[in-house]
Amino acid sequence: MFFRQIQQHGDNFSYIIADPETRETAVIDSSYNATEIIKTIKSQSLLLKYIINTHGHSDHTAGNSELRSIFSAKIVSHSQSKTNSDLKVEDGEVLNIGKIAIRVLYTPGHTPESISLLVDKEKLFTGDTLFVGECGRTDLPGGNAKNLYESLFNKLLNLDDSVEVYPGHDYGSRPSSTIGYERKNNYVLQPRSLKDFVMFMSQP
Ligand SMILES: [Zn+2]
Repeated sequence: MFFRQIQQHGDNFSYIIADPETRETAVIDSSYNATEIIKTIKSQSLLLKYIINTHGHSDHTAGNSELRSIFSAKIVSHSQSKTNSDLKVEDGEVLNIGKIAIRVLYTPGHTPESISLLVDKEKLFTGDTLFVGECGRTDLPGGNAKNLYESLFNKLLNLDDSVEVYPGHDYGSRPSSTIGYERKNNYVLQPRSLKDFVMFMSQP
């Protein structure tokens, strides 16, 4: 699999994944990194098929229209997203780029339309749901700590320890992690009841 983590401006991460045979490509969160994404796609002769947004916050979607205008790619977001999109997806749907399968995991909490993306059961793109050593905030409009609890504890932590974690921001001690490492070391993911988690998230 061709894979790049891109951080050109600020702390937002963008990701490029591509099938090396067909060159079909997906970008996850264009963010402020369009220039570097375009450069990479052109230099590697990639064929951009999907621009996938983990959620609608502008720091994740900022490069969408520039990428779409250059490459005839589809902007993809969850069905509840208000982002200008060509394709709306639901939990469990699978997008294919060549032989690579991108599974949509609906993980609301940071926002109502937040999704995570599991690529070939080995790489997980978590947007602002889970960071290295942290989780996304729930105090912005549409945020919901109860939903985030379900997303983290009953969805993402059900994945194998070996699954690699690629977050939407460079907030941690390193730019990526694994489910196993986060399960053990992320203070947000230590065992708590739903009630305790909601209380924990409401603390400043
Ligand atoms: Zn966000």
